[in-house]
Amino acid sequence: MRATQWMGKKHIEVNEVPDPQILNDRDAIVKVTSTAICGSDLHLYDGFIPTMRSGDILGHEFMGEVVEVGRGVGNLRVGDRVVVPFPIACGSCNSCRQGLFSVCENSNPNARIAEKVMGHSPCGIFGYSHMMGGYPGGQAEYARVPFADVGPLVVDDDLTDEQLLFLTDVFPTGYMGADNCDISPGDVVAVWGAGAVGQFAVASAKLLGAERVVAIDRFDYRLDKAREAGATDVLNYEDVDVLDALQELTAGRGPDAAIDCVGMEAHHPSTAIHAYDRAKQAAMLETERPHALREAILAVKNGGTVSIVGVYGGLMDKFPIGSLMNRSLTVKTGQAHVQRYLKPLYERIRNGEIDPSFVVSHTLPLEQAPQAYRMFRDKEDRSNKVVLKP
Ligand code: NAD
Ligand code: ZN
Ligand code: ZN
Repeated sequence: MRATQWMGKKHIEVNEVPDPQILNDRDAIVKVTSTAICGSDLHLYDGFIPTMRSGDILGHEFMGEVVEVGRGVGNLRVGDRVVVPFPIACGSCNSCRQGLFSVCENSNPNARIAEKVMGHSPCGIFGYSHMMGGYPGGQAEYARVPFADVGPLVVDDDLTDEQLLFLTDVFPTGYMGADNCDISPGDVVAVWGAGAVGQFAVASAKLLGAERVVAIDRFDYRLDKAREAGATDVLNYEDVDVLDALQELTAGRGPDAAIDCVGMEAHHPSTAIHAYDRAKQAAMLETERPHALREAILAVKNGGTVSIVGVYGGLMDKFPIGSLMNRSLTVKTGQAHVQRYLKPLYERIRNGEIDPSFVVSHTLPLEQAPQAYRMFRDKEDRSNKVVLKP
């Protein structure tokens, strides 16, 4: 089959690789009809996630048709149309039983490596390094889906791939980012990063009852999408001081909640501080560029919530623990527990409460994955979310 392979930092190729096979009774094989590139893939592309190996198959956002099922998969049949959550989860361990699917205790065969960095291991993730299980991803013609009796959701034919694909990741991720803010009517929520994750966080904060939602980014075309998603206010951090602007918007109190949808490759408007973080990150003295998260912590009101869904890999410099501690802030975070949100969000799409296809800016053949990665990384051609068709 054809598959998108990580060959090294900033080096992607689409090549011929062996077809996936059923390895366990609970596996299914899915013929991929649509797959997308995520901001998380950019962290791999840019070489910031350790334990990638040349030839690894990328992709954790994919949907398609079931073409083969193992003997232990009673809920799926050949021909079913499914969306596949990016976290691989067994459904029955202690974490899964609590709905914490992205920290499943049984799906990462390389847990030992992750434990060294993080203390304990999160779940396995499709196409997301050997530390996260070494699973081949779904930016390919076919993918093997482990625990297929737990993750995939069978979906109806009357909705398009573009309406359903984002259930695999960025819609539930943005939703979890907002859900973790325990929003009450009248709340002001600020969202750092107006990529697809930020746009879904904005839309979800509105669905959950926020009165004002402020989106923050430096790309106006993305801030326009955030407005389309429901943002009442947008801040371009190249034009305004974000902390001052948020004070102004909230009578000096700060937003009730702050959602970080940026993660480890944050950009800093001051070239000096950005250069400092870039240099430390490049020298592996810290794994993150923490500007957005630092700002989110400083901005939120006393007693407020900081919800982190932007991905971080390891260690951070100059983390404002003093602000967090002295001001009684709450931090909630995690890779999205997609399996928990899948059905309720599918219902919201079915009911017409939201149409996730608004995020799509480009649909390209899988063969163009190398160009698509470059374009998406460099925010060329107003790229917002790229769908690849095998
Ligand atoms: P993206 O790259 O499309 O968007 C990120 C946006 O952040 C860009 O528009 C960029 O301009 C903006 N940004 C950069 N620095 C900023 C700053 N200092 N202040 C405000 N905005 C800034 O990525 P995406 O697909 O939207 O993903 C966003 C983040 O969410 C990534 O870190 C990704 O890894 C993470 N993610 C997490 C999960 C999860 O389960 N927790 C799932 C999917 C993605
Ligand atoms: Zn993702
Ligand atoms: Zn589990």
